[in-house]
Amino acid sequence: MQLALSTWQEVEEYLQKSRGIIIPIGSTEQHGPNGLIGTDHLDAEFVSRGVGEAIGALIGPTLTIGMSQHHLSFAGSITLRPSTLIAVVGDVVKSLMRHGFERFLFINGHGGNVATVTAAFDEIYATTSLAGPGSPVRCKMVFWSGGPRCSALADELYGDANGGHATAAEVSLSQYYQPDHIKLAQMSPKIAPKSTGFYDSDDYRRRFADGRIGSDPSLSNPEDGKLLYEAAVEDMVELFKRFVAD
Ligand SMILES: [Zn+2]
Repeated sequence: MQLALSTWQEVEEYLQKSRGIIIPIGSTEQHGPNGLIGTDHLDAEFVSRGVGEAIGALIGPTLTIGMSQHHLSFAGSITLRPSTLIAVVGDVVKSLMRHGFERFLFINGHGGNVATVTAAFDEIYATTSLAGPGSPVRCKMVFWSGGPRCSALADELYGDANGGHATAAEVSLSQYYQPDHIKLAQMSPKIAPKSTGFYDSDDYRRRFADGRIGSDPSLSNPEDGKLLYEAAVEDMVELFKRFVAD
């Protein structure tokens, strides 16, 4: 069930049976020579919608732009400053809290969001803690690829060549979601340099010339994407059910 495709009466009805909502969150940033700039938010949205179809969970609007300052030396990348993203996440959650939502599961596609969204959750808890006892609100963020089935499958398919950014798995999933937008490219070197950390966007580009970190996404294909999708949806269904019951 998608929020954007529901009426307000349908949302009120949903709230009679569940207080949980899933918000897909990703980024709009370079993903190497064959990865789409929308990879992180497309993947998070695809898996979230799969969970919605499987168990009728309500899926909120996709937060398509994340904290991506380190990708800004590549054309087309867009970032929110951490302070902006903290404000966006806070306003989204507080809007929905007003209607009675209590469990907010952010299904995430982008590592660069973690520190900032964690800070956003602490801002929300600071508000509820300062307001006094009794708030039932719980926020959680997980990677679509982070559950046991999906992470084991990515290991089995790609091993170390999955990498850290523009991963073989995330590119495969987006190829299954968007089959009309599959790009072919040579990878040189075949496996990108591994990360020992980075600072700003120029530093990132100096270390990772084509944008990838530790990955070989020439291994990606939509057939793998289908398997990863099924594994990720199963993982996230289980996790969401546990989270709303907690
Ligand atoms: Zn990504």
